[in-house]
Amino acid sequence: MMVVVIDAGHGGKDPGALGKTSKEKDIALSIALKTGSYIEKNLKNVRVIYTRKSDRFIPLHERARIANDNHADFFISIHCNANNSSKVYGTETYVMGLHKSQENLEVAKLENASILKEDDYLQHYEGFNPNSAEAYIIFSLYQNAYLDESLNLAAKVQRQFKERVGLRDRGVYQAGFWVLYKTTMPGILVETGYLSNTKDEKFLKTKSGQTYLASAIYRAFKEYKEELDRNQQAAASVPIVQSETISNKNIFFRVQIASSPKKVNTSRRFKGLSDMFNYKHLGEFKYCTGKFSSFNEANALKNTLRRGKYKDAFVVAFQDGKRISLEKAKSLVKKP
Ligand SMILES: [Zn+2]
Repeated sequence: MMVVVIDAGHGGKDPGALGKTSKEKDIALSIALKTGSYIEKNLKNVRVIYTRKSDRFIPLHERARIANDNHADFFISIHCNANNSSKVYGTETYVMGLHKSQENLEVAKLENASILKEDDYLQHYEGFNPNSAEAYIIFSLYQNAYLDESLNLAAKVQRQFKERVGLRDRGVYQAGFWVLYKTTMPGILVETGYLSNTKDEKFLKTKSGQTYLASAIYRAFKEYKEELDRNQQAAASVPIVQSETISNKNIFFRVQIASSPKKVNTSRRFKGLSDMFNYKHLGEFKYCTGKFSSFNEANALKNTLRRGKYKDAFVVAFQDGKRISLEKAKSLVKKP
């Protein structure tokens, strides 16, 4: 089962960007609910969780917590943009990272300003001031572990907007959005258009415009999921014997799923899993499943296990039965 969190930006006392006759919070909610309902209706094995389903104020840290606590596989945040110039129009999709332009920084500042609507915001944001450009320096240290997946869906969303809805594609960018910063899974923040632009606002506030935008996001997500499913099937169908004969360096990748101070009965405790393997590290028994000669195959199994009951599964590498770092294993495998 895959879990996707759909996050309608703003809400309640935080209206978000203001158009001439509309508010971002209302448009974002409508698009979010539609997107979620398309996924629920049409995609099997996907559970949709909404951070809000009504006009409520939800702090940014709370939105991230909802996604993390539910072990979501993807986080999709839906917003509308605004600019000082009414001429600027079109769609953008963001992934977490350090901004590369002033324009992108301004978008992140605008979205993060929601923090200031919270009564006790000083407690929850590690002293981060969303209005200070200097505060954004912390994001230069940030390593986005899910950059590839996030960029993949972001590009698909933008392509759908452009090719299927005929909207202006302003591109995929990185910037320091707190809500993406604190979520521990791939995530995107979609800016569906500019409420400061008359034409964009007109489109955004109509039911048909919202339906177009939601179905574009849905189709992008569907494409992303189908791609993921195909990769996992391909990984699962690789015979393990073949993997072993290919590798001549005795390096294997496995997926670690549990640790215990006492040795456990693996066949009973980890029923249904194959290639169980355990090793002792710092006085604890560590339990792994799978045996692959490539990181990608192990990683695909890890993703599958995380969707099941092994939420904390991760890939580990071994050389001649001894644990080595993933970096070392990857570089050794790469060498001819
Ligand atoms: Zn917003």
